[in-house]
Amino acid sequence: MQKIAVLTSGGDAPGMNACIRAIVLTAEHFGIQVIGYKHGYNGLLEQEYQVLKASNVSNIIQRGGTILRSARCLNFKSDVSAKLAAKNLNALGIEALLVIGGDGSFHGVCHLGAHWQGQVIGLPGTIDNDIFGTDATIGYFTAIETALESIDKVRDTADAFERIFLVEVMGRHAGFIGLSAALASASDHVLVPELCGDLNVELDNIVLRLNASMQKRGNSSFIIIVAENLWPGGVTNLAQVLHEKTNLECRPVILGHVQRGGSPVSQDRILATKLGAYAVEQAMAGESQIMVGEQNNKVVAYPIELTWQQRKPLDPYLVKIQQDFFDISKITQA
Ligand code: ADP
Repeated sequence: MQKIAVLTSGGDAPGMNACIRAIVLTAEHFGIQVIGYKHGYNGLLEQEYQVLKASNVSNIIQRGGTILRSARCLNFKSDVSAKLAAKNLNALGIEALLVIGGDGSFHGVCHLGAHWQGQVIGLPGTIDNDIFGTDATIGYFTAIETALESIDKVRDTADAFERIFLVEVMGRHAGFIGLSAALASASDHVLVPELCGDLNVELDNIVLRLNASMQKRGNSSFIIIVAENLWPGGVTNLAQVLHEKTNLECRPVILGHVQRGGSPVSQDRILATKLGAYAVEQAMAGESQIMVGEQNNKVVAYPIELTWQQRKPLDPYLVKIQQDFFDISKITQA
């Protein structure tokens, strides 16, 4: 193998740079040249690229974002685009394309694989951790830390004023960040899609828990973590609804894109480094249409189309702890 390419696509995640670095250093070790495409699949269509050498990836492991930039490329779904991408890859003599991204980007990997005879490999880079076949995705650990840092600060001010805060965290349609951040911040309630039933019942449960907490602790702070895309109108609407039900002051906080930024924590740097190196080795072994991931601390290769065909569950033990700690039936009986 002589030449491979890499691109970062979709939502950026801390650790993408660490992953690019590992790909370049591993490839150089084996005498393989690396082309870095810019702006996700757009770079592939427009032949916007640079040769990546060790000197291009020094001093980036600690940086959030991606030196290759990321982007969405809506017209990549067409056959015409995939054929153009294949032509451009062939023109440069590229044998394998490595794509660091999330679920959407992996659909792009498959789509390209259907139109190009070269090898395609996905690396899971998303803060949402919503990819089946890998225990964690690159960026997830940093996102939890970032959310946690903010929630701790919200708690300080919530305590001082004995207020109710509703904190919206990212996760797309999954509750990994929400559940982890809620547990680690000792928040009083969490709403994530996997554990949420009828929204009216959820609202009643929040009110029950709030009343129980006030009976026990008097006026005090109360923190509710809410996953994005769950409550219609988000936490702003939920705060209003809760205020109308309880006549208590409820403050919404949307953490938003800060969760995508920041220097990656060590777990993300190490995961990114392992997966970057392993992806190059898998390319050299002739593998294609796979995602490289990690399961039980071991690197694995997983068929890429299976990564979105199954929904990754939350850690059942974390769910149990959350439910044991905040058992709503105990409150109802009291
Ligand atoms: P993420 O990779 O973070 O999930 P997106 O869902 O926005 O982000 O997807 C990133 C990009 O992947 C899209 O802008 C598009 O270029 C490509 N993509 C997504 N879905 C498909 C698809 N079904 N076929 C081809 N390309 C796709």
